[in-house]
Amino acid sequence: MCGIIGYTGTENAVPIIVDGLKRLEYRGYDSAGVAVMNEDGFEVVKQKGCLSALEAMISIKPIAGFMGIGHTRWATHGEPSDVNSHPHLGSQNKIAVVHNGIIENYRQIKERLEQKGIRFVSQTDSEVIAQLAEYYHDGDIVDTMIRTANALEGSYALGIMCLDEPDKLVAIKKDNPLIVGVSEHGNFIASDVPAVLAHTNRVCYLNDREIAVLTKNSVEFFNMDGEPIYKEPETVTWSIDSAEKGGYEHFMLKEIMEQPRVLKETIQSVLGDGDNRRIIDSLDVSRFDRIVITACGSAYNAGMVAKYVFERLCRVTVEVELASEFRYKDPIVGQSTLVILVSQSGETADTIAAMREAKRKGAATVSVVNVIGSTIARETDYTLYTMAGPEIAVATTKAFSAQLVLLYLLAVSFAKKLGKISKETEDRLLSDIASLPGKAAGLLKRIDPVAKYAAGCVGCKSIFFIGRNIDYAIALEGSLKLKEISYIHSEAYAGGELKHGTISLIEDNTLVVAISCCERLYEKIYSNVEQVISRGARVLFIGNCIKAEPGEQLETIELPEINELFAPSLSVICLQLFSYYVAANKGLDIDKPRNLAKSVTVE
Ligand code: GLU
Repeated sequence: MCGIIGYTGTENAVPIIVDGLKRLEYRGYDSAGVAVMNEDGFEVVKQKGCLSALEAMISIKPIAGFMGIGHTRWATHGEPSDVNSHPHLGSQNKIAVVHNGIIENYRQIKERLEQKGIRFVSQTDSEVIAQLAEYYHDGDIVDTMIRTANALEGSYALGIMCLDEPDKLVAIKKDNPLIVGVSEHGNFIASDVPAVLAHTNRVCYLNDREIAVLTKNSVEFFNMDGEPIYKEPETVTWSIDSAEKGGYEHFMLKEIMEQPRVLKETIQSVLGDGDNRRIIDSLDVSRFDRIVITACGSAYNAGMVAKYVFERLCRVTVEVELASEFRYKDPIVGQSTLVILVSQSGETADTIAAMREAKRKGAATVSVVNVIGSTIARETDYTLYTMAGPEIAVATTKAFSAQLVLLYLLAVSFAKKLGKISKETEDRLLSDIASLPGKAAGLLKRIDPVAKYAAGCVGCKSIFFIGRNIDYAIALEGSLKLKEISYIHSEAYAGGELKHGTISLIEDNTLVVAISCCERLYEKIYSNVEQVISRGARVLFIGNCIKAEPGEQLETIELPEINELFAPSLSVICLQLFSYYVAANKGLDIDKPRNLAKSVTVE
């Protein structure tokens, strides 16, 4: 869940590493640290708190060197503290390590090493890596990496420097991401591409248990037998601008505003002549009698929306499963099941495990992923890329929207291939989907009413989201977004379910956000709105078929007209903005909400 970066080259590593960490901060931000190697050995600055605290510390105690490693942490083992921050050094100060992941057998390794007289200083699982590597090191760093990795159980992306081999920066990964960046002035390792984009767009993706050895002017790769392997750098098309705030106060607002473009490019990737088109065309859907969508967090909510679309258009049973549950439930999937994995990062640990379980049972797998070359993208049978570009804010917006639209397009294609819809219906559905970017852009031009309403909601203790049918599915995402960034308790309910218990929670001034884009169900949801109003609630009613007039307890926000199956793409924008402005008015750290990290690479 944390971010790591390393650099070796002709420039001072410290500003390069600190700048790279800024772009990885979305992965973890409870502590940070940098270690450089220079003629005096290792110099380390690390401490609890966010990156700006580290920067302040470095300005008081400057360090410099042409090679270094850095870390921004999301603690899993050992509280966030100065001593538990990375980098970790072996007790002889010969090896420095940054680690993303969890070492499951760290206790056993620690006990073994302690019996040999090695003293540990932190409570982290990561320190064992530095101590073990130092214990094993006998002059050959690749050999040390192999022996160390063979002893570790769990997940890791590691950046390692060794005083005995001062020209080499080494890296290895298993189940956590790591890229190698190649530039004119030096070479990099990083958890994610945006960390190196300011210097290079040429990157190699490490596979599990591949070792990278970087010097200032060379990059070599080895397998676990120590044999060289060849990797050609790929050119990344993401621009550095997409990793900058571009004048917005927060990445989240910038990313919300980018949605028309992201929708357009994702739609184009299927309706035009891109890889997504080819992959969707190549899917033989007739072999599947069931679809399972499995994911976590917002990606799960995208699956919930997609279930309505697939079932309505394809008449195929779709189950949506939380990946963390799917992996342990002995799922009933087999050769006639299509399992769709949805993940922005492509590195979500639970989703990776669900994917592997589905494959083990013989299911065909399709992924909907944003990060190119990520683990899920590489391991599924068919990979569809969302065209969201780098998403920095922890709370997803544009990547979610891209997932939704890609899933709609997949559903339309399936329905056509299965003979469930005519050519005319297909054309009509595709033209509805193609109208989304323009309608989203129109919606984003009139955000004032949402911002104004949200400003009056900062004191709410609890906010309920209701909807029916597909509007209920998107209510789940509205509620999650609010919880993530505003820290206000919230729950989403199917409108018809209120009377079965939840309505007892409604009292004077409780806020209820109701969504209505299914015209055929308008009277039903409106009746739920009236029920909560009569019990004292205030209602924000969002939709494209609302007939009720605003009143003392009722505010309405009009959305553009669209086929109800695709309306979640518009209502979600309104819900994202609502959450954003509630959190902004509370003065919260919107891009880095407490306790959360963007890419959840631990279980
Ligand atoms: N397990 C390590 C720690 O707690 C790394 C955590 C991470 O990858 O987020 O320090």
